[in-house]
Parts: sequence; structure tokens; C-alpha cells
Amino acid sequence: MRITHLNPDAGIGASCWLASLQSHHMLLDAGTHPGRIGRESLPLLEKVKDVEIDAIALTHCHLDHVGALPVALRHFPHAPVFMTVPSYFIVERVLHNSVNVMVRQRDELRIRDYPLFSHEEVDDYAAVFQGIPYRKETPWGRSHGKATGPTLEFFDAGHTLGSAGVLVRSGKSSLFYSGDVCFHDQTLLKAARFEEVVADTVILESTRGSQAVPPGFSREKEVERLEETLQSIQEKNGPVLIPSFGLGRTQEILALLALLMQKGRIRQQPVYIGGLGRVFTEIFDLQATRTHRSHPRLRLTEALQLVVLSGKEVESISLNGPKIFVMTAGMMTENTGSHTLATRMLNQPRAGIFFVGYTDPGSPAGRLRAAEPGSEFLFSAGTGFLRRRCRVESFDLTAHAQREDLVDWVGRVKPKTVILGHGDPDARAWLAAEITTRNPRIKVHQPVQGEAVEI
Ligand SMILES: [Zn+2]
Ligand SMILES: [Zn+2]
Repeated sequence: MRITHLNPDAGIGASCWLASLQSHHMLLDAGTHPGRIGRESLPLLEKVKDVEIDAIALTHCHLDHVGALPVALRHFPHAPVFMTVPSYFIVERVLHNSVNVMVRQRDELRIRDYPLFSHEEVDDYAAVFQGIPYRKETPWGRSHGKATGPTLEFFDAGHTLGSAGVLVRSGKSSLFYSGDVCFHDQTLLKAARFEEVVADTVILESTRGSQAVPPGFSREKEVERLEETLQSIQEKNGPVLIPSFGLGRTQEILALLALLMQKGRIRQQPVYIGGLGRVFTEIFDLQATRTHRSHPRLRLTEALQLVVLSGKEVESISLNGPKIFVMTAGMMTENTGSHTLATRMLNQPRAGIFFVGYTDPGSPAGRLRAAEPGSEFLFSAGTGFLRRRCRVESFDLTAHAQREDLVDWVGRVKPKTVILGHGDPDARAWLAAEITTRNPRIKVHQPVQGEAVEI
């Protein structure tokens, strides 16, 4: 087996791996880098352009995992693309929305590479997309259908709707790619179900490898702190922006707000969201009883008074008064609702911006999060330097596994080899050291950009 790391960056970057098992080749994810612009954000596809890819498997529909899919399909137009059934209902929306954002960025920021692909390409390639139920072993590859051919199987990763780890088997070899995984319950989604994974080689995400869980930390306490901070800003008549990925994060936050309103902890009020958030919220509601989650009867579109804002309305809506905005994108990419609102709110001492998930340090969200109160900082290329006068708070409601849980899980699976990805160098280094200390027989690799690991 040979695994090639196609992320263009040493950090989380763009998820994309080539897995070669005997004569079969599979691409695992094809994402874009959230902190880079234009072609620089693409995975290292030129490294594999001469490889005959038999199939592509997607773990979930976040852009750092699927944002480059149409570009990859230009090289391998006949490769079937396997994903879970919920992802199958989501992926085209995500890609079309990405085209819209890129077109706006081309027009307003003069980024000539954009869009990296077109609406027409998304429509054309959709013919090779296949939705596969969780835990259904499915053949792939040129020997498709033969008893000896390779198979894949999706395991629920608990990270977002449709998220999965993928188990690839070929002959005697087995590879499990975790994708993004969450080993604890979120407000809606329940923890990953990876208990039955058996594999010789594991590709493991490392997002939180450098973050120890602080003593006394609990998710419940973070929710309480969010509730109190929200109340204190609303008492002063200030607006609150919670930048969130449209898929997963938005629905988790909406569920949290709905439950707080039902319990009378915050007052009933409209919640402002973007069009994409609305689409995925409807899909979450539709899939509610078919998803491994808490509160299956909580329908967000019924429990909350959701108000969808258009791009124009985001620019003009009054920010006087205690309004709550849950807007894409989580990284505050330019020409998105959260970027526009943040630009308007930064200067207002009464306003609050709450971070509730991962932000790339090179994204506008990452730079805002790092900015000192009162200081001037470069928010984005379009806005230039801005002064941060609003309140900025971070709440740890992560949809990624805590590092101890990752190490415990590896100890239970006992693979021969672990390959670390989707994490900063220090995060991977901590996990590598911890895994080898606890399991001296496991070989841990940390391939750099473009590096292949022979197993
Ligand atoms: Zn993700
Ligand atoms: Zn990711």
C-alpha cells in the first residue's frame, strides 16, 4: 500500500490523499485550503495526474474536504465519487454555493483564478456521484464486482450531517481514513460510531493535537458561558454575530438557541441566517429521524423564527438592537454574510462576535480572533486595516475529537501504521509522541506536502 499526502500545506489545509492498494487507486477527499486564495488553495493534483484513479471517496461536505472535487474530476472524469447518502443530498449545494462565492470574489477582489470551476461542471459531474448508506460494504475499482476486488465502507464520524470515516479493503490490506471525527456528543449530532473499525493502516485527523482539555472544562459550562455573554450583550442592546459553517455548525448553534429559548433562558426572538444556512437547516430537519442525533423531534425551522437575509440585506440591515445573526462563513471569507456583518460590527463597542469552531489563522476570522481589543489589524484584502472595538469571544463547542479521545481510539483499533494529517505540525507531533509512547509497536508517519508513505 502507498499513501500520498496531497495537502499543499503543513497545517490543516486542504484534505486530499491518494491511496494505492495493489493496482487500485482511490482519491480520499478533494478539498480546498480555507486560508489560501485562487489556485494556491488546491491540493497537489499534478502529482497524481498520470495515475489512473478508479474512484473518489468523500468523508463529508466541508470545503476543506470537497472544495476541489470538480477540479479533480477534470483529471479523472469517469471516476465514480462515493459518499454517504446525506452527503449526496448536500454536496451539489455546497459546490454551487462555492462557485457563487468565487464569482463574487473574482468581480470584487479581481482574483483572476476564480471561479476554479463552473456551475455547468458541477451539474455535469453530478452524474458520477453515488450515495452509499453507512455500514454497507461497496465494491469499487476496475475489478468491480469480482469477489477479490476492493471495497469501501462508511462509518458515522459524528462531525457533521453525513460525515464518515471510510474503510477501504483490498485483498489482505485494510485502510481506515477518519476524515474529521468527533468522539463526543454535540447538541444535535451524537458521537462517532467507530467501535467496529478494524484496519492495519489508519489515516487520522489531528486538528486538536496541540490543545489539552483544560482542567474542569465541560461543554455544558461553555454553553452556560455563551448564554451569559449573549444575555449581557443583549441587555446593552447590542447585536451578536456567530460566524458558522452553513453545514453542521449553523444547525448546532440554532439547536442550542432553540433549546435556550424553550427553557426561557434567553428571550424568544428572530434569528437571522443566510440562504445556505437555511437550505442545510431544512435538510437537517428532513433527515432528523434518520440521523444518529439527540432531540430528533426538534425541527429547527419550526422551533425558531428564522429570517433569511440576502446579500443586499446583510449590507443594510439595522444593527441597532439585540439581534442574533448566525451567518456563513465560519472563516469569514470575503464576500460572505459573516464577513460583511463583521466589517460593519467591528467598530461598535456594543456588538459581540462569538467564535464557536475552528478558524484558520490565515483567514479573516483567524486574524480577527487574534486581534487585541482596540487595536488595528488587517481583517481582509478588501477591507484593509480595521480597528476592533466590538467584543470578541471564543467558545469551545468543537466538532472535532479531543486529542486524548483520538489516542484512546487508536489504542483500541491497534493498527500497525498511523498516518497523521489535518493538523498543524505541533498537533501532529504531540499525537505521534503520545501514540508511540502508549503503543510502541505502532509506526506513526507524518508525511509532508506531496510525500508518499510506503506500507
Ligand atoms: Zn469538517
Ligand atoms: Zn476538515
